[in-house]
Amino acid sequence: MSKPHITLHHGDIPADLELGNLVAIDTESLGLRWARDRLCLVQLSSGDGTAHLVKFEAGKYDAPNLKKMLIDPGVTKLFHFARADLATLKYHLGVMTAPVYCTKIASIIARTFSDRHSLKDLARDVLGLDLAKEQQTSDWGTPELTDAQKSYAASDVLYLHKIKSKLDEMLVRDGRAELAQAVLDFLPTRAELDLCGWNDVDVFAHKPFNSSSK
Ligand code: MN
Repeated sequence: MSKPHITLHHGDIPADLELGNLVAIDTESLGLRWARDRLCLVQLSSGDGTAHLVKFEAGKYDAPNLKKMLIDPGVTKLFHFARADLATLKYHLGVMTAPVYCTKIASIIARTFSDRHSLKDLARDVLGLDLAKEQQTSDWGTPELTDAQKSYAASDVLYLHKIKSKLDEMLVRDGRAELAQAVLDFLPTRAELDLCGWNDVDVFAHKPFNSSSK
């Protein structure tokens, strides 16, 4: 892997940053609970090998340029496990991101021969890349990010375009593209359900409140 180009921004993306109509996005927070653990970093890439990192200070989420992009109907936002990122972004920035693509959902629908759908699994199995995950649990609230943190954060968005291309080929090949698209279209609603209190409820289940015996 050649060394990626990484640009660090503070509080928002620049107004003139042009990332195209398919933007890979990931977020890093202090933990996994959006109401407790503040959003620290948003990573973006147009798929050209460059990652843009936006660092947020506590409580300072007035990011008009980023928000405009997140809700732009002409820009598809590309995530791995979008559900969690959409909830975090809505909670902290106040906007529901749409339209979206999620490589995890696309993989679950396309790669029915596998039960391994993490980003690391996809990078390895679909692209033949070994993504390091050592910084996954690091302190993203630190005033200065280390180079290791920056390159880890960047690696979560740099390969999503290539993974999407491969998954899309498989979805078309096996006649599953429309089904996948319908699921992806529902993702913002799924994230909204999470934020509204149905986070551990499968609203489609026969017995949604007794998941152990359904
Ligand atoms: Mn990440």
